[in-house]
Amino acid sequence: MFVTRFAPSPTGYLHLGHAFAAITANEAAGGGRFLLRIEDIDSSRCRETFVEAIFQDLRWLGLSWVEPVLRQSARMEVYGSALDRLTRMGLVYPCFCTRAETAAEIAHAGEAPHGPDGPIYPGTCRQLPVEERLSRTRSGGGYALRLDSARAAARVGQLFFEEAAGHPPTDFERVRVNPVLFGDVVLARKDTPASYHLAVVIDDAAQSITLVTRGRDLLPSTHVQRVLQTLLNLPAPKYAHHRLILDEDGRKLSKREGSAALRNYRNADLRADEIVAMLQRA
Ligand code: GLU
Repeated sequence: MFVTRFAPSPTGYLHLGHAFAAITANEAAGGGRFLLRIEDIDSSRCRETFVEAIFQDLRWLGLSWVEPVLRQSARMEVYGSALDRLTRMGLVYPCFCTRAETAAEIAHAGEAPHGPDGPIYPGTCRQLPVEERLSRTRSGGGYALRLDSARAAARVGQLFFEEAAGHPPTDFERVRVNPVLFGDVVLARKDTPASYHLAVVIDDAAQSITLVTRGRDLLPSTHVQRVLQTLLNLPAPKYAHHRLILDEDGRKLSKREGSAALRNYRNADLRADEIVAMLQRA
């Protein structure tokens, strides 16, 4: 028995991939508890209508969850204090580089190590003298806060996470963490005061999640998330990264294209149990 969660971002209507993720999380709870979390930190992309639509679509699928639903947008102070804690540990530095500057620097270097999200930040601002850091942060311009991943790695030592060996998740394999897989990840930006990785580890702990189920595309994130959990003294859940539902061309479904939105199926008079059966075959 596990405590699991489904954690969509309300940036569009749920599609078949979300339905599969939600059903998988619910099943994996195995008589434990299935929770819901709305990942709405990025206020420029999230919409209240999509939050309502998430509830409706999940209910239509026949799912129910243990209240309360956790809303990330209401938890900025919690994320802020975790960030302060990491800063006091000397593991965070301000980064003033624009995306264009970083791209130019990487191009100039000729060859840059790549992480799961593309080229790794070259660490330009990590070297800035303290006085320059202070004067630039005080000048009021925007800046990001990055994790000093090498320092963090030294501090946490060798870590592992437990990944389900199959489905349903009964046996688990130990996976060795690569703490610098993403390099110096952004933990906060001026317009989004907490990054996905930071908020997720804090909230998985706050909701007492014991098994994180999510798509395989997020498996690499687990490496950096284990580092953050350890630094913040948070418990480590187990993980079960599941297969993705792909479109006819073998690509991941995206909310932007409205591909396979659940409500289209509902409007076409398909029944939820037909969707569930279809996903099992997909
Ligand atoms: N909010 C993320 C998404 O919509 C999921 C995060 C997670 O499961 O860790 O893809």
